[in-house]
Amino acid sequence: MIKVFLKRKIVPRIANGHPWVYGNEIAKIVGEDGKVLETPVASGTIVDVHFFDNQYAGRGYINQQSQIAVRILSRKCEDINDQFFYNRILKAWQYRQKIGYTENCRLIFGEADYLPALIIDKFNDYFVIQTIAYGIDQWKPAIVAALQSIFNPKGIYERNDVPVRELEGLQQQKGFLSAPFDTNIIIKENGLQFHVDIENGQKTGYFLDQQDNRKAIKNIVKGADVLGAFTYTGTFEIHAAHYGAKSVLGIDISEQAVAQANKNAALNGLDSICKFEARNAFDALRQWHKEEKLYDVVMLDPPAFTKSRESIDKAVAGYKEINLRGMKLIKDGGFLVTSSCTNLVNTRLFLQTIESAAKDTKKYIRQVTFKAQASDHPIIWGMENTNYLKFLIVEVTNK
Ligand code: SAH
Repeated sequence: MIKVFLKRKIVPRIANGHPWVYGNEIAKIVGEDGKVLETPVASGTIVDVHFFDNQYAGRGYINQQSQIAVRILSRKCEDINDQFFYNRILKAWQYRQKIGYTENCRLIFGEADYLPALIIDKFNDYFVIQTIAYGIDQWKPAIVAALQSIFNPKGIYERNDVPVRELEGLQQQKGFLSAPFDTNIIIKENGLQFHVDIENGQKTGYFLDQQDNRKAIKNIVKGADVLGAFTYTGTFEIHAAHYGAKSVLGIDISEQAVAQANKNAALNGLDSICKFEARNAFDALRQWHKEEKLYDVVMLDPPAFTKSRESIDKAVAGYKEINLRGMKLIKDGGFLVTSSCTNLVNTRLFLQTIESAAKDTKKYIRQVTFKAQASDHPIIWGMENTNYLKFLIVEVTNK
């Protein structure tokens, strides 16, 4: 086995369980013959990671083309083979069963399920996979075989059309990993039904991470006029109508998303209450404020606004702007339901941003609910990227 030796100062993070070894944290790489390697190791090779004092840190896959040179798969000296992946996936499934997420769930949440760079969403009998690092991509056949054997699914689909793969030296691609099937499926959530377009929807087709938060709006939307921006396929909005809202308007910049949202409203018999329009939320919210429109509840679920540390300021400015515009549209004593889905804007920064938007719009806010993503996306303390979703409901009153 090839051995990767870490620099001295890297010990605490890796020893505490973080699975990433950055290229600049490696002191040396030693070949099977004990000699220091001068040329890069073939991407995807399983290597042993050792601390500077030769103590064993774990075993993982290497890719020196990537900033994250090694992702650790196991802390034990165990074989990384098909059985290893089967065991990990089975364990993750048993965990989901234990915590009560079975019909639809994020079955594998990468690092949080000790399978770095692997995402698997389960939509009843269908599975959608993303392998976003070179080393895990090599194990796709083993992963598919494990799913076949544990679930005997109706279909498995690969949504690897994500730009991050290129940083790993991988191509973007999507397609069937099982016999072809109709990729337009229907899932059930909280007593409602939703069309999911596995092939052309965003990310894996559906945002399971908000599944519990959609329930959290139940009481505040009763009898309310509701506006939802960044609606995607209308999930929050259709929940609002189901929970007794008087009227619901959902907007999204994507025509395709709006078409799917309309289909979803009809599927649930809520299309007389729930309307959707294709619009840029920033422009629409500003315009409606000018027109003095007001809503009892405004819901915002914007995209990440940033993918890199360098542009956190830009993301914060985006969150502030949209929340500010949202708050201006809320009746005195109404509610703002607002989310952020990037770990780069942490909880403190997110709450500060909402607070500052309230200050600028001369509103008082009172926290009703603050949550993270659903529990089928486990959070591992110390692994920042697993703690990413912030979901906040505040009551908004005029000063
Ligand atoms: N609330 C949704 C997920 C929203 S994802 C759910 O729970 O399923 C973010 C959405 O914002 C995407 O659908 C994207 O098309 C949309 N979006 C991005 N920029 C936008 C903009 N400027 N105005 C309106 N929608 C936008």
